[in-house]
Amino acid sequence: MPPTFAATYTNPDEPDIRIRFLPKFYYMRKPLLLMLLLCGTVHLFAQNELPGKPRFLPIVQWTTLAAKFTRFCKTYSENPCDLKHSIPDSLYQQWRQFEMVKDEEHPGKYLIIITLDGFRWQEVFMGADSILWHRAQKKARLPIDLENFWEDTPEKRRALLMPFLWTQVAEHGQIYGNRNKASAVTVTNKMRISYPGYNEIFAGYPDDKHIKLNFKIPNPNSNVLRFMGQQKSFRGRVASFASWDVFPSIMNAKKGEMYVNAAFEPVQNIHFSTLNQQLQSVSKPWGKRIRPDSLTAAFALEYLRQKAPRVMHIGLGETDEYAHEKKYAEYLSAANANDKMIGQIWQFIQSSERYRNKTTLFITTDHGRGNSPDTWHKHHTWVDGAEEIWFAVIGPQTAPEGEMEQSPPYFQCQFAQTFAAFLGLEYQPAQAVTGKIAALFETRDVPLKQRQTTEKYLENQLITKK
Ligand SMILES: [Zn+2]
Repeated sequence: MPPTFAATYTNPDEPDIRIRFLPKFYYMRKPLLLMLLLCGTVHLFAQNELPGKPRFLPIVQWTTLAAKFTRFCKTYSENPCDLKHSIPDSLYQQWRQFEMVKDEEHPGKYLIIITLDGFRWQEVFMGADSILWHRAQKKARLPIDLENFWEDTPEKRRALLMPFLWTQVAEHGQIYGNRNKASAVTVTNKMRISYPGYNEIFAGYPDDKHIKLNFKIPNPNSNVLRFMGQQKSFRGRVASFASWDVFPSIMNAKKGEMYVNAAFEPVQNIHFSTLNQQLQSVSKPWGKRIRPDSLTAAFALEYLRQKAPRVMHIGLGETDEYAHEKKYAEYLSAANANDKMIGQIWQFIQSSERYRNKTTLFITTDHGRGNSPDTWHKHHTWVDGAEEIWFAVIGPQTAPEGEMEQSPPYFQCQFAQTFAAFLGLEYQPAQAVTGKIAALFETRDVPLKQRQTTEKYLENQLITKK
């Protein structure tokens, strides 16, 4: 039996199916109006055949109806959300049940993958680093309140930095990658930069031959999200929202496989007009290359509400940008904000009838960074520690075991198959490397010893296939 989550939320923003129904109706308005007028004309002629009936009455009736219809369409185009209530509740309830049933038929549920670009495991598990912290404090001008991230113990510091991760996920899910407690997660590509990392996450294997840099070159490899989008019950319901403008090249999706929205690309939909306007007005510290994470998360959340995707990737990017600029305080602040965004997304998930207790949230990073106070800001092939990553999972199929210790080593190339397994799918990467992370699917009842044997097998498999 899947665990139920202790935290239940009030429900201010349950996605309203009426909002999704009305656009289809709106785009049909012209043929509908024509049909209305045609019916009126036929009625008029039929009426004229009968003796003693006044001619003008049907004209007035049908003209009034056409005028009402035109006004309705006009109001809708100006403010769609106001009009959703104009559909009778009985019809809405029927519609809603129909919509809910469509997803229940499939064994796989919903999946949300969130990536924090280049965010180190050191900060995830120990919070603010003492040396970097004191250096940051000494800087004359501080744009943010540094006090917010300092406490005496690593446990308290990490909870200050990432409260959602260390309350909700630590209590109801699993977190891997604390090398101080013998839990290691590693990238297998040799580049240890973003594009190769995201390729490894989604394709399910490293491709050092073709993907060496972060240029906008169309990815020659397919990936698990595109694979999902090709499945019948997932068609049109896989999306990726990312801050970084290279994501369309990384995903390189064919038409209809998945929706990719990155950087300052607006969403062509009437419900996104407010957010689209913000794309114009928001400040752009990294030019058109990176959209602020808060906007990426806002777009993603709105898309969840409006389109109810079955699979969504949210790519956040500010942590990596600040780290390269050696701004430790801002790097922490960005991670803290990312944690809050993830918390908001999870709050929506758990408040939605559709998603509640049927959705897995997988949080990770594309690469690590240097593991010393002098190299923390950078990452590439020759930087020690840039291969060290982490991941966290919360969802109905994953036992609530919190921070993992003494776990077998895991690899970034295992993520893609793991994503598919959460949805009851089997994804075979073009280059087979190893299997899914089986521990995420085991119930509490399985003895730890037995589980480690299984993992050992996978680990050996990885080594032999290399
Ligand atoms: Zn970077």
